[in-house]
Amino acid sequence: MTPPMPLNYDLTGHNTLGLRASSHYARRIEDEAELPDLFADAARDGLPVRLLGGGSNVILGEQYEGITALMATRGRALSGGAGGAVLVEARAGETWHDLVGWTVAQGLWGLENLALIPGTVGAAPIQNIGAYGVELCDRFHALDAYDRTTGSVVTLGPAECRFAYRHSVFKEQPGRYVVTRVRLNLARNGKPELGYRELSGLGPVDHPATVMDAVIKLRTSKLPDWRVLGNAGSFFHNPVVSAAVGAAFMATNPAAPAYPQADGAIKLSAGWLIEQAGLKGYRAGPVGVSDRHALVLVNYGGATRTELMGLADHVVATVEERFGIRLKREPELL
Ligand SMILES: Cc1cc2nc3c(=O)[nH]c(=O)nc-3n(C[C@H](O)[C@H](O)[C@H](O)COP(=O)(O)OP(=O)(O)OC[C@H]3O[C@@H](n4cnc5c(N)ncnc54)[C@H](O)[C@@H]3O)c2cc1C
Repeated sequence: MTPPMPLNYDLTGHNTLGLRASSHYARRIEDEAELPDLFADAARDGLPVRLLGGGSNVILGEQYEGITALMATRGRALSGGAGGAVLVEARAGETWHDLVGWTVAQGLWGLENLALIPGTVGAAPIQNIGAYGVELCDRFHALDAYDRTTGSVVTLGPAECRFAYRHSVFKEQPGRYVVTRVRLNLARNGKPELGYRELSGLGPVDHPATVMDAVIKLRTSKLPDWRVLGNAGSFFHNPVVSAAVGAAFMATNPAAPAYPQADGAIKLSAGWLIEQAGLKGYRAGPVGVSDRHALVLVNYGGATRTELMGLADHVVATVEERFGIRLKREPELL
């Protein structure tokens, strides 16, 4: 067995919430060819394995009795196609925002709306990351993954990934696949995606950097910086309710933001619900609801998962009592 990293590896600096966490073993994966050995060794020693990228969408427990595989494979490349089409391939451990900046700097359109989302390339398909009117699935070509059930490398296209809002096949079959490479469709002669309300006033845009800079400005003005105040971005999904529930809700809350969906359902704003329930800025010991953005739960320092989940339960119960709508958590308990 390749020697694992030291016992009780501290992961407090490996999760953007900054929760106190450690793992019995940890192993940095710098080459995807190490994966078969990692799982074979773990099976032989009877240890569970979990994957960690940038730790920006997970709620880590204080102690993990297994191996935490830290995805650190690096590499990215472009290949040209007909009519200005460009394919970018990046390995799982690349930082997502660096990939966005690298492609935008070369005048390539496609990823600019997704700037500044923390985390790694390999985790981006897991919840089909999305922001400012664009989702990963809108640019997705294919990915390579190590399938733990067969021990082989598979290539999955868009249909096989089963992307939906913050959802994919990887959520349906957690732990089965290790994403190793992601390929995305970009364009040299693209056009801006400015459908999102806050980008609609940008005016004529002839370079993706203009959109990326606007997105960065919007994000930094709204969200607390996780390097300063630990957080996992949006802590709850925006609830999608049936047309009937939505109509009843709007009748009593006419000022609430509501976004009709193609199938007639209505998407509501979780942040609005939390704020109206009086919880913006609420604090419980070392954790609280951000006073800048009610959808963000923050760690003021030294918090554990138990404390954070106590706060999350309080937010869910308070919103449900006030509006009859049950919020669902976005970051995963890992
Ligand atoms: C401040 C802030 C803002 C955010 N804004 C957004 C946003 O606008 N839109 C959005 O969609 N998300 C947002 N997020 C959530 C998060 O950035 C994304 O979900 C991101 O893709 C997570 O990447 P990660 O590398 O940190 O994954 P991690 O948190 O390390 O892992 C997330 C999940 O993916 C699994 N995983 C990690 N790597 C792999 C791999 N190679 N193969 C298979 N499984 C893997 C892990 O086991 C875990 O289940 C935000 C988070 C923060 C902290």
